Amino acid sequence: MMWDLVVVGASFAGLAAARAAALAGLRVLVLEKKQSAGAHLHTTGVIVKDAIDEIAWLQEVPPALVRRIDGVRLYAPNLRHLDLHAPGYYFWATDAPALLDWMVGSVRATGAEVRLETLFTEARPAPGGGWRIPLASGELLETRYLIGADGPFSRVAKALGLSQNREFLFGVEHEYPDAEMDRNFLHCFLDRELAPGYIGWAVAGVGAAQVGLARRVLPGAGHGRLRLEGLLAKTEHLVRPLAPPRSVRAGMIPCGGLLERVARPGALLVGDAAGMVSPATAGGIHTALRHGQDAGEAAAAFLQGRAADPAEWLPRQYPTFRAKRAVRWLYEKLQNDWVFNQLLGTAAMRRLAEEVYFHRKGSAEAQLRSRRP
Ligand SMILES: Cc1cc2nc3c(=O)[nH]c(=O)nc-3n(C[C@H](O)[C@H](O)[C@H](O)COP(=O)(O)OP(=O)(O)OC[C@H]3O[C@@H](n4cnc5c(N)ncnc54)[C@H](O)[C@@H]3O)c2cc1C
Repeated sequence: MMWDLVVVGASFAGLAAARAAALAGLRVLVLEKKQSAGAHLHTTGVIVKDAIDEIAWLQEVPPALVRRIDGVRLYAPNLRHLDLHAPGYYFWATDAPALLDWMVGSVRATGAEVRLETLFTEARPAPGGGWRIPLASGELLETRYLIGADGPFSRVAKALGLSQNREFLFGVEHEYPDAEMDRNFLHCFLDRELAPGYIGWAVAGVGAAQVGLARRVLPGAGHGRLRLEGLLAKTEHLVRPLAPPRSVRAGMIPCGGLLERVARPGALLVGDAAGMVSPATAGGIHTALRHGQDAGEAAAAFLQGRAADPAEWLPRQYPTFRAKRAVRWLYEKLQNDWVFNQLLGTAAMRRLAEEVYFHRKGSAEAQLRSRRP
C-alpha cells in the first residue's frame, strides 16, 4: 500500500502532524519505536497557556490528565523567592505518559495508523518521487511524503542528510507518588553549582510530584553528573517527597535553536528533531504541537494540489528563537549565585523572569507594576 504520509515519532510533534494530515484526508502511518507513546518519557510535561489557547486539540484532553498551576516561584541560590503571575496566565501540569497514550487513541480515531515497536532506520528516494522505507520486519513502506518528528537525535535527519542537533542541556527528573510543596506554583531554583546553565524545578503534577535538574552539556565533555539529592537536601523545607521515587525521566534537550537544514523535497523535520525548543526555558511541547500540526496540514495541502511542497516554504515559519538564544547566551556567561541573590527582588529581574516565563503577556503586567508608585 502507498501511504500519503509517514510520520516518524509518536510524541507531541508527530501525533499533531499525523492528526492534522488525517483530518485533511491523507492516508497516514506513524512509526514509533517504543511499546507505547507514554513509555520511558523524558519530559516533565508542563504545557504553557499559549499552547492551550492555540491548539484546539488540547481542549479535548480529559480533565483528569491535567492540573492548572497559576504561577512560578523563582528561588535565588540563597532560597529567597519571587512569585510570578501574569493576568489570566497559567500552566498545565500533566500526566504526560497518560496524555501521550490518549493522543495516540485520538489520532487513531481520525483514521491514521500508529504502529508501535517499529523502528525507523532509513529512507531512500523512490523512483517516481516520494520515499521507500525498509523495516526490520522485511516490509518495504512507500510514502509520498515523510515527516521526521523523532526527537533530538533524529534518524530521519541522518537518513536524509539534514542538520542534526549539536547543543544540549541534560535533564534528570525523579517522579514521586507524592511530595509536600506549595501546589500552586511551578518551583524553579537558580543554583550555579547544582544546575550550571539551567535550573532545578519541582512541581506537584497529576498523580505524581516531579523534581528535576538540568545542566548545559559542554561539547566533548559528556553531560556530567546531576546531583538531584543535593537539590532535595537544600530544599527539604520546601519540597519533601513522601516516598522514594517510582521512576526517573532523563534526556537531552536541544538548546541551540532552529537547525539550518530541516527540509528537502518531500520531507520535513519538526519538533525537537528540528531544534524547535526554546533556548531560554527549554520548553518544546508548545512548538512541537503547533508546528507539527502546521506540517501535517501543509503536507496535505501539497499532496492535494493546493500548495507548493512545504519543504520550500514552511521552515520559514518555524521559530528562530533569536531573543531566547541571546537570553541563554547571557545566562551562561553571567550565571553567578551572588549576582542572583542581589538581583532577585529588583524590578529588572522580575521583568526579565516574567518575559521568560509568560512571554509578552507577562511583560505587559510587569510594565504596569513597574510604573506603580
Ligand atoms: C527532563 C526534560 C524535561 C522537559 N520538560 C518539559 C516541559 O515541562 N515542558 C515543555 O514544553 N518541554 C519540556 N521538555 C522538552 C520536551 O519534552 C520536548 O521538547 C518535546 O517532547 C519534543 O517533542 P517531539 O515530539 O519533538 O519529540 P520527542 O518527545 O523527543 O519524541 C520523539 C519520539 O520519536 C520516537 N523515535 C525516536 N527515534 C525513532 C525511530 N528511529 N523510529 C521510531 N520512533 C522513534 C521516540 O520514541 C519518541 O516517542 C523537557 C525535556 C526533558 C529532557
